[in-house]
Amino acid sequence: MRFDRLDLSARGKARVYLGTIVGTLFCIAAAFAIDSYSFETGTWQLGEKPLNNFLIPFVLAPPIFYFLLSKLRELSIAHHELMNVAATDPLTSCLNRRAFTALVDGYLERVEKQQDLGSGAFLVVDVDHFKAVNDNYGHELGDEALKLIAVTIKSSVREIDLVGRLGGEEFGVFLPSLDPARTAIVADRIRAAVSSVPFTPHGRPHRLSISIGGTTFDSRATFADLYRQADERLYAAKNAGRDRVDITPYGPGVAA
Ligand code: GH3
Ligand code: MG
Ligand code: MG
Repeated sequence: MRFDRLDLSARGKARVYLGTIVGTLFCIAAAFAIDSYSFETGTWQLGEKPLNNFLIPFVLAPPIFYFLLSKLRELSIAHHELMNVAATDPLTSCLNRRAFTALVDGYLERVEKQQDLGSGAFLVVDVDHFKAVNDNYGHELGDEALKLIAVTIKSSVREIDLVGRLGGEEFGVFLPSLDPARTAIVADRIRAAVSSVPFTPHGRPHRLSISIGGTTFDSRATFADLYRQADERLYAAKNAGRDRVDITPYGPGVAA
Protein backbone atom coordinates (compact mmCIF):
# COMPACT_ATOMS: atom_id res chain seq x y z
CA MET A 1 0.00 0.00 0.00
CA ARG A 2 1.62 3.27 -1.08
CA PHE A 3 1.57 6.00 1.55
CA ASP A 4 0.19 8.68 -0.80
CA ARG A 5 -2.76 6.44 -1.58
CA LEU A 6 -3.59 5.61 2.03
CA ASP A 7 -7.38 5.87 2.16
CA LEU A 8 -8.32 6.81 5.72
CA SER A 9 -11.97 7.49 4.84
CA ALA A 10 -14.74 5.42 6.44
CA ARG A 11 -14.74 3.30 3.25
CA GLY A 12 -10.99 2.63 3.19
CA LYS A 13 -9.38 -0.62 4.37
CA ALA A 14 -6.53 1.39 5.92
CA ARG A 15 -8.92 2.71 8.56
CA VAL A 16 -9.77 -0.86 9.59
CA TYR A 17 -6.07 -1.82 9.95
CA LEU A 18 -5.13 1.40 11.69
CA GLY A 19 -8.17 1.19 14.01
CA THR A 20 -7.26 -2.41 14.88
CA ILE A 21 -3.65 -1.47 15.72
CA VAL A 22 -4.59 1.63 17.73
CA GLY A 23 -7.43 -0.20 19.50
CA THR A 24 -5.15 -3.11 20.44
CA LEU A 25 -2.42 -0.78 21.71
CA PHE A 26 -5.02 1.06 23.76
CA CYS A 27 -6.25 -2.21 25.31
CA ILE A 28 -2.67 -3.24 26.16
CA ALA A 29 -2.01 0.17 27.74
CA ALA A 30 -5.29 0.00 29.66
CA ALA A 31 -4.51 -3.53 30.91
CA PHE A 32 -1.09 -2.37 32.19
CA ALA A 33 -2.60 0.73 33.79
CA ILE A 34 -5.40 -1.15 35.57
CA ASP A 35 -3.05 -3.90 36.74
CA SER A 36 -0.32 -1.51 37.93
CA TYR A 37 -2.22 1.27 39.65
CA SER A 38 -3.16 0.98 43.29
CA PHE A 39 -6.17 3.07 44.22
CA GLU A 40 -5.43 2.61 47.96
CA THR A 41 -1.89 3.99 47.85
CA GLY A 42 -2.17 6.01 44.63
CA THR A 43 1.07 4.44 43.36
CA TRP A 44 2.14 2.60 40.24
CA GLN A 45 3.80 -0.80 40.39
CA LEU A 46 3.90 -3.63 37.85
CA GLY A 47 1.63 -6.55 38.80
CA GLU A 48 2.75 -10.11 39.42
CA LYS A 49 2.30 -11.32 35.85
CA PRO A 50 2.94 -8.27 33.64
CA LEU A 51 3.28 -10.38 30.49
CA ASN A 52 -0.44 -11.22 30.76
CA ASN A 53 -1.24 -7.51 30.39
CA PHE A 54 0.34 -7.69 26.98
CA LEU A 55 -0.57 -11.21 25.81
CA ILE A 56 -4.30 -11.28 26.65
CA PRO A 57 -5.25 -8.02 24.83
CA PHE A 58 -2.78 -8.86 22.05
CA VAL A 59 -4.65 -12.11 21.33
CA LEU A 60 -8.24 -10.98 21.98
CA ALA A 61 -8.41 -7.34 20.83
CA PRO A 62 -7.29 -7.58 17.14
CA PRO A 63 -10.02 -9.99 15.95
CA ILE A 64 -12.70 -8.05 17.84
CA PHE A 65 -11.57 -4.64 16.52
CA TYR A 66 -11.02 -6.03 13.02
CA PHE A 67 -14.50 -7.59 12.95
CA LEU A 68 -16.29 -4.50 14.28
CA LEU A 69 -14.40 -2.02 12.09
CA SER A 70 -14.90 -4.22 8.99
CA LYS A 71 -18.65 -4.26 9.65
CA LEU A 72 -18.64 -0.47 10.07
CA ARG A 73 -16.75 -0.16 6.78
CA GLU A 74 -19.28 -2.40 4.99
CA LEU A 75 -22.12 -0.28 6.40
CA SER A 76 -20.41 2.89 5.23
CA ILE A 77 -19.91 1.47 1.70
CA ALA A 78 -23.56 0.36 1.55
CA HIS A 79 -24.69 3.78 2.79
CA HIS A 80 -22.54 5.53 0.17
CA GLU A 81 -23.92 3.32 -2.62
CA LEU A 82 -27.49 3.94 -1.45
CA MET A 83 -26.90 7.69 -1.42
CA ASN A 84 -25.53 7.47 -4.96
CA VAL A 85 -28.50 5.44 -6.19
CA ALA A 86 -30.91 7.87 -4.49
CA ALA A 87 -29.23 10.86 -6.14
CA THR A 88 -28.75 9.43 -9.65
CA ASP A 89 -31.08 9.31 -12.62
CA PRO A 90 -31.01 5.62 -13.63
CA LEU A 91 -31.16 6.22 -17.41
CA THR A 92 -28.53 8.92 -17.87
CA SER A 93 -26.49 8.61 -14.63
CA CYS A 94 -26.84 12.38 -14.18
CA LEU A 95 -28.05 13.74 -10.86
CA ASN A 96 -31.80 13.34 -10.54
CA ARG A 97 -33.96 16.41 -10.13
CA ARG A 98 -34.22 16.19 -6.35
CA ALA A 99 -30.47 15.82 -5.78
CA PHE A 100 -29.66 18.47 -8.38
CA THR A 101 -32.08 20.96 -6.81
CA ALA A 102 -30.77 20.27 -3.31
CA LEU A 103 -27.12 20.67 -4.38
CA VAL A 104 -27.76 23.93 -6.24
CA ASP A 105 -29.81 25.38 -3.36
CA GLY A 106 -27.17 24.18 -0.88
CA TYR A 107 -24.43 25.91 -2.87
CA LEU A 108 -26.40 29.16 -3.16
CA GLU A 109 -27.19 29.19 0.57
CA ARG A 110 -23.56 28.48 1.51
CA VAL A 111 -22.08 31.24 -0.61
CA GLU A 112 -24.74 33.65 0.57
CA LYS A 113 -23.81 32.98 4.22
CA GLN A 114 -20.17 33.61 3.36
CA GLN A 115 -21.30 36.85 1.70
CA ASP A 116 -19.20 35.91 -1.28
CA LEU A 117 -21.69 34.89 -3.92
CA GLY A 118 -19.32 35.30 -6.82
CA SER A 119 -20.95 34.78 -10.13
CA GLY A 120 -22.21 31.76 -11.99
CA ALA A 121 -24.84 30.54 -14.38
CA PHE A 122 -27.75 28.16 -14.62
CA LEU A 123 -28.81 26.56 -17.90
CA VAL A 124 -31.89 24.60 -18.89
CA VAL A 125 -31.25 22.29 -21.84
CA ASP A 126 -34.15 20.80 -23.78
CA VAL A 127 -33.84 18.38 -26.70
CA ASP A 128 -35.47 19.68 -29.87
CA HIS A 129 -38.31 17.69 -31.44
CA PHE A 130 -37.53 14.72 -29.26
CA LYS A 131 -41.01 13.31 -29.66
CA ALA A 132 -40.14 12.76 -33.34
CA VAL A 133 -37.05 10.73 -32.34
CA ASN A 134 -39.27 8.39 -30.32
CA ASP A 135 -41.94 8.29 -33.02
CA ASN A 136 -39.46 7.58 -35.82
CA TYR A 137 -37.03 5.20 -34.15
CA GLY A 138 -38.79 3.87 -31.07
CA HIS A 139 -38.52 4.55 -27.35
CA GLU A 140 -35.37 2.43 -26.85
CA LEU A 141 -33.37 4.42 -29.39
CA GLY A 142 -34.87 7.54 -27.85
CA ASP A 143 -33.35 6.40 -24.55
CA GLU A 144 -29.99 5.87 -26.29
CA ALA A 145 -30.17 9.43 -27.64
CA LEU A 146 -30.85 10.76 -24.14
CA LYS A 147 -27.83 8.87 -22.77
CA LEU A 148 -25.63 10.23 -25.57
CA ILE A 149 -26.82 13.77 -24.91
CA ALA A 150 -26.20 13.44 -21.16
CA VAL A 151 -22.63 12.18 -21.71
CA THR A 152 -21.99 14.96 -24.21
CA ILE A 153 -23.25 17.67 -21.84
CA LYS A 154 -21.13 16.30 -18.99
CA SER A 155 -18.01 16.13 -21.13
CA SER A 156 -18.53 19.74 -22.28
CA VAL A 157 -18.42 21.23 -18.78
CA ARG A 158 -15.94 21.35 -15.91
CA GLU A 159 -15.57 18.78 -13.14
CA ILE A 160 -17.09 21.22 -10.60
CA ASP A 161 -20.22 21.90 -12.68
CA LEU A 162 -23.43 20.03 -11.91
CA VAL A 163 -25.53 18.27 -14.55
CA GLY A 164 -28.98 16.97 -13.61
CA ARG A 165 -31.91 15.49 -15.46
CA LEU A 166 -34.84 17.72 -14.58
CA GLY A 167 -37.34 15.39 -16.25
CA GLY A 168 -38.09 13.85 -19.66
CA GLU A 169 -35.69 15.30 -22.22
CA GLU A 170 -34.76 18.31 -20.12
CA PHE A 171 -31.45 18.79 -18.29
CA GLY A 172 -30.17 21.43 -15.88
CA VAL A 173 -26.55 22.63 -15.83
CA PHE A 174 -25.25 24.64 -12.88
CA LEU A 175 -21.99 26.49 -13.50
CA PRO A 176 -20.62 27.96 -10.26
CA SER A 177 -17.78 30.51 -10.26
CA LEU A 178 -18.17 31.35 -13.92
CA ASP A 179 -17.62 34.78 -15.43
CA PRO A 180 -21.05 35.83 -16.82
CA ALA A 181 -19.37 36.90 -20.05
CA ARG A 182 -18.24 33.30 -20.62
CA THR A 183 -21.66 31.72 -20.07
CA ALA A 184 -22.87 32.08 -23.65
CA ILE A 185 -19.59 30.55 -24.88
CA VAL A 186 -19.96 27.55 -22.57
CA ALA A 187 -23.64 27.11 -23.47
CA ASP A 188 -22.87 27.27 -27.16
CA ARG A 189 -20.06 24.75 -26.72
CA ILE A 190 -22.62 22.34 -25.20
CA ARG A 191 -25.08 23.03 -28.06
CA ALA A 192 -22.41 22.51 -30.74
CA ALA A 193 -21.12 19.32 -29.08
CA VAL A 194 -24.61 17.77 -29.03
CA SER A 195 -25.31 18.78 -32.62
CA SER A 196 -22.17 16.99 -33.81
CA VAL A 197 -22.53 13.84 -31.71
CA PRO A 198 -22.86 10.76 -33.95
CA PHE A 199 -26.30 9.19 -33.56
CA THR A 200 -27.18 6.63 -36.21
CA PRO A 201 -30.48 4.89 -35.45
CA HIS A 202 -31.04 1.90 -37.79
CA GLY A 203 -27.78 2.85 -39.54
CA ARG A 204 -29.06 6.24 -40.67
CA PRO A 205 -27.38 9.35 -39.26
CA HIS A 206 -29.70 11.64 -37.34
CA ARG A 207 -28.59 15.08 -36.17
CA LEU A 208 -29.67 15.72 -32.60
CA SER A 209 -30.17 19.29 -31.50
CA ILE A 210 -30.86 21.10 -28.26
CA SER A 211 -32.06 24.53 -27.21
CA ILE A 212 -30.60 26.20 -24.14
CA GLY A 213 -32.10 28.90 -21.95
CA GLY A 214 -29.90 30.33 -19.26
CA THR A 215 -29.40 32.96 -16.65
CA THR A 216 -26.23 34.32 -15.09
CA PHE A 217 -26.25 35.45 -11.46
CA ASP A 218 -24.11 37.51 -9.13
CA SER A 219 -26.66 38.31 -6.47
CA ARG A 220 -28.91 36.39 -4.10
CA ALA A 221 -31.04 33.77 -5.90
CA THR A 222 -32.62 30.37 -5.30
CA PHE A 223 -32.88 27.35 -7.57
CA ALA A 224 -36.54 28.20 -8.22
CA ASP A 225 -35.65 31.81 -9.22
CA LEU A 226 -32.90 30.72 -11.59
CA TYR A 227 -34.98 27.91 -13.06
CA ARG A 228 -37.94 30.20 -13.74
CA GLN A 229 -35.79 32.72 -15.54
CA ALA A 230 -33.76 30.14 -17.50
CA ASP A 231 -36.98 28.39 -18.51
CA GLU A 232 -38.34 31.67 -19.90
CA ARG A 233 -35.22 32.01 -22.02
CA LEU A 234 -35.57 28.40 -23.16
CA TYR A 235 -39.09 29.17 -24.33
CA ALA A 236 -37.72 32.15 -26.27
CA ALA A 237 -34.98 29.98 -27.83
CA LYS A 238 -37.58 27.43 -28.94
CA ASN A 239 -39.77 30.16 -30.42
CA ALA A 240 -36.81 31.64 -32.26
CA GLY A 241 -36.31 28.39 -34.17
CA ARG A 242 -34.55 25.93 -31.75
CA ASP A 243 -30.91 24.72 -31.90
CA ARG A 244 -29.83 27.94 -30.18
CA VAL A 245 -28.81 29.54 -26.91
CA ASP A 246 -30.56 32.40 -25.10
CA ILE A 247 -28.93 33.75 -21.94
CA THR A 248 -29.94 36.68 -19.75
CA PRO A 249 -28.53 38.11 -16.50
CA TYR A 250 -30.63 37.20 -13.47
CA GLY A 251 -32.92 39.93 -12.21
CA PRO A 252 -36.53 40.09 -11.09
CA GLY A 253 -37.39 42.65 -13.77
CA VAL A 254 -36.07 40.76 -16.79
CA ALA A 255 -38.79 40.18 -19.36
CA ALA A 256 -39.45 36.79 -20.94
P1 GH3 B 1 -39.59 20.68 -28.47
O1 GH3 B 1 -38.58 20.94 -29.52
O2 GH3 B 1 -40.66 21.72 -28.44
O3 GH3 B 1 -38.97 20.50 -27.14
O4 GH3 B 1 -40.32 19.35 -28.91
P2 GH3 B 1 -40.26 17.93 -28.20
O5 GH3 B 1 -40.83 16.94 -29.14
O6 GH3 B 1 -38.88 17.65 -27.74
O7 GH3 B 1 -41.14 18.16 -26.92
P3 GH3 B 1 -42.38 17.40 -26.36
O8 GH3 B 1 -42.56 17.93 -24.97
O9 GH3 B 1 -43.54 17.50 -27.29
O10 GH3 B 1 -41.95 15.90 -26.30
C1 GH3 B 1 -41.03 15.41 -25.39
C2 GH3 B 1 -40.91 13.94 -25.63
O11 GH3 B 1 -39.89 13.36 -24.80
C3 GH3 B 1 -42.17 13.21 -25.34
C4 GH3 B 1 -41.76 12.07 -24.44
O12 GH3 B 1 -42.31 10.86 -24.86
C5 GH3 B 1 -40.26 12.02 -24.60
N1 GH3 B 1 -39.62 11.49 -23.42
C6 GH3 B 1 -39.67 11.98 -22.15
N2 GH3 B 1 -38.93 11.21 -21.32
C7 GH3 B 1 -38.41 10.21 -22.08
C8 GH3 B 1 -37.56 9.09 -21.79
O13 GH3 B 1 -37.12 8.85 -20.66
N3 GH3 B 1 -37.22 8.27 -22.82
C9 GH3 B 1 -37.68 8.50 -24.08
N4 GH3 B 1 -37.30 7.66 -25.05
N5 GH3 B 1 -38.49 9.53 -24.37
C10 GH3 B 1 -38.84 10.38 -23.39
MG1 MG C 1 -38.02 18.95 -26.21
MG1 MG D 1 -39.23 19.30 -22.75
